[in-house]
Amino acid sequence: MYDLIIVGGGAAGLSAAVYAKRAMLNAAVIENEFSTGGQIIKTYEVDNYLGLPGINGYDLAEKFREHADKFDTEFIEAKVVNIVDFTSYKLLELENGDSVKAKAVIIASGASHKKLGIKGEEEFASRGVSYCAVCDGAFFKNKTAAVIGGGDSAIEDALFLSKGCQKVYLIHRRDSLRGSKILQSRLFEQDNIEILYNSVVKAINGDKKVENITIVTDDAERDVKVDGVFVAIGIAPQSEAFKNILALDENGYIVAGETGRTNIEGIFAAGDVRTKPLRQIITAVADGANCVYAAEKYLSSL
Ligand code: NAP
Repeated sequence: MYDLIIVGGGAAGLSAAVYAKRAMLNAAVIENEFSTGGQIIKTYEVDNYLGLPGINGYDLAEKFREHADKFDTEFIEAKVVNIVDFTSYKLLELENGDSVKAKAVIIASGASHKKLGIKGEEEFASRGVSYCAVCDGAFFKNKTAAVIGGGDSAIEDALFLSKGCQKVYLIHRRDSLRGSKILQSRLFEQDNIEILYNSVVKAINGDKKVENITIVTDDAERDVKVDGVFVAIGIAPQSEAFKNILALDENGYIVAGETGRTNIEGIFAAGDVRTKPLRQIITAVADGANCVYAAEKYLSSL
């Protein structure tokens, strides 16, 4: 039996791994895919991680992984589908039918991209519709792309795409953007980005791949020719596997404060999957440390 199982290999999970190994706990990280890295790997440039301004998201994720590897962190590639609480230990049930026992658990399963739920979104997934500009942007070199959303992710995606695309539309449903002022000022400087305010994308159309989108602006409908559509409308927590055991808020986030303590003793939540006001890499990393500190206290009380 492990002292501690950490679910998730993103910023919060790897930070927890480093703190757990340094605390000499018998700990392991369970991750869906080998070296998943979490959401950071899909970020082109991270400008607000203290001490490393402008670092590429993939490079930062690699540094996190190397740091965890330096402490010989054990990684298990599997998907957790449920947790059963036996008070003195927790049983983590895996999709492959196996199970893992641990005295304490830190859930750092993160969040994933929200979908629009409009006509054509599913149909043209990977045929022009993408949720990751950094991963797929190169396919649209010298072409026209649309980014949907008004937050930091949408602005970053539009800026990234503007480097290779001939033209980028940033389509937002309100009359002003939600993203940070510094990103907005960079956006306004780009000649090949056109911002369509008060606009909603109603459908994504095409034959074999995306050819155009139907946009409604102030009740007027029109089709605009685009080759790619990047959806950047926020994130949703990956908490489905824990809903039977843990208290979730109305949006599906695991209810937990700064120590990560949930409604079940010995189960903690760190990073984007927990209720918190600011979801950033730096707050996820801090969560990992706080959760291990709380988990150590819990373990010494057993
Ligand atoms: P976000 O801040 O929640 O913004 C989502 C945007 O999508 C909002 O403008 C929202 O519109 C719009 N939206 C939501 N549902 C929609 C729908 N069905 N149709 C059309 N538009 C829709 O999400 P995010 O940009 O992914 O950022 C998430 C968090 O990560 C934030 O805390 C952000 O600061 C952080 N982040 C930081 C950085 C960075 O600092 N470099 C980069 C990326 C993300 P409304 O404005 O109308 O709600």
